[in-house]
Amino acid sequence: MADTYLNFVSSGVGKTLAKKLGLPQPAHLRRHKPGAPLVPGPVLVLGPDDGPSDADDVAAALLGWDLDVRRHPVSGVRWGAVVLVLSEVTHPEQHSEHVLGLATTLRSLATGARVVTISRQATSSDAPALAAARHGVDGLVRSIAKELRGGATANGIVLAGDARAGAEGTLAPLRFFLSGKSAYVDGQFLTVNDADVVAPADLDKPLAGRVAVVTGAARGIGAAIAKTLARDGARLVLVDVPQAGEHLAKVANETRGTALQLDITAEDAGQRILEHAQARHGRLDIVVHNAGITRDKLLANMSEDKWDSVIAVNIAAQLRINDYLLASDAFRDAPRIVSLASTSGIAGNRGQTNYAASKAGVIGMVRSTAPLLAGVSGTANAIAPGFIATEMTARMPLATREVAARLNALKQAGRPVDVAEAVAFLASPDAGAVTGQVLRVCGQNLVGA
Ligand code: NAD
Repeated sequence: MADTYLNFVSSGVGKTLAKKLGLPQPAHLRRHKPGAPLVPGPVLVLGPDDGPSDADDVAAALLGWDLDVRRHPVSGVRWGAVVLVLSEVTHPEQHSEHVLGLATTLRSLATGARVVTISRQATSSDAPALAAARHGVDGLVRSIAKELRGGATANGIVLAGDARAGAEGTLAPLRFFLSGKSAYVDGQFLTVNDADVVAPADLDKPLAGRVAVVTGAARGIGAAIAKTLARDGARLVLVDVPQAGEHLAKVANETRGTALQLDITAEDAGQRILEHAQARHGRLDIVVHNAGITRDKLLANMSEDKWDSVIAVNIAAQLRINDYLLASDAFRDAPRIVSLASTSGIAGNRGQTNYAASKAGVIGMVRSTAPLLAGVSGTANAIAPGFIATEMTARMPLATREVAARLNALKQAGRPVDVAEAVAFLASPDAGAVTGQVLRVCGQNLVGA
């Protein structure tokens, strides 16, 4: 969907006008293009350099990806990315050296550059100064994200427990954050554990040999997820209600998947999905719970039907399907569950008590499903999209839509593909160290929570 405002303020006259009137000036985002380099310039790795360090390990790994890696800021370079390794910092006073190193580069970042921090999780058993140093990174990254321009983003990776900076479990989210696939992810963190993760043999086809089901795949975000998973090599089962059968068949054709007309609220939905996947593709590895509905009303005007239908589709169906799959023997080879939540489920939204309760429910569900899958190297995660331009949002009144679309650090709506890229990452084998998490794909939406 074209962003007319963005195109206007990117033009000569529009640019001048927007500047004069103090209007938001969004930039075209650097999205993934097959064959394009991972980052749009050299990568600066900042961190301790007076002995073996986590920063060394990260720099070595990035060199292994054939990137132009530097360890010190120099003038005259348009940086494609800066990776700030703060995992060994033990007191807030130690941040300044590295953070001020980053400061010197901010005016010479390439368009669509990335800033990524790697830090360690603060826990209540840490000494207070250590916890302060570790948790301080949270405010740092979220503020940098709000200061960056030109479609650049800032995100962080948090090492939990025995996770190591140079391990593949850390490098996989680092690759995602550096790439164009994370274009609309801004001001966010992914926590990684010490799970054994192996990089896929072919980085362009990380889902080769895997079978995925996508619910609500006939249109919008679900159709984009289907196309992105197919691009990454997955074979697909595409689910939607019978009324959407024609659109579903089209997406199935495009992605060489199989269509399964099914209302996910059916009691036996889990069984039908698994039987279909096994009969047509021989296995099932990935479930993307994307189907969702809104029935907005202020709570004072909420009917039983509006409340119940949203809970039934958005959370109860997911719980029932997961229960079935978790109890079966056929979902045990490093399975992946990725559920669509929403920023409304994090911050709440006027008129959306039912929707927000269902989406916050999704967040609760993935957190407690994650440990149930750990024994089979499985993961469960949620994606919380912000304002994504779909048929649904196109129907909003122009002024409301325009305001809602600009209320984020990137000052624009996301696209279905932005959500799809995040889903594809979490579904991939090398995201094995990321589990029980909620990743917001919202351009750092100012959600107010
Ligand atoms: P959409 O309405 O365009 O598509 C949803 C699809 O789900 C439709 O094809 C619909 O037929 C299908 N579906 C609905 N009920 C179903 C059922 N009972 N069984 C099977 N299929 C069913 O929505 P979208 O904008 O693409 O959103 C996709 C997901 O992302 C939803 O979970 C939504 O809540 C979430 N989300 C969207 C946005 C956004 O800005 N668009 C923001 C946050 C979260």
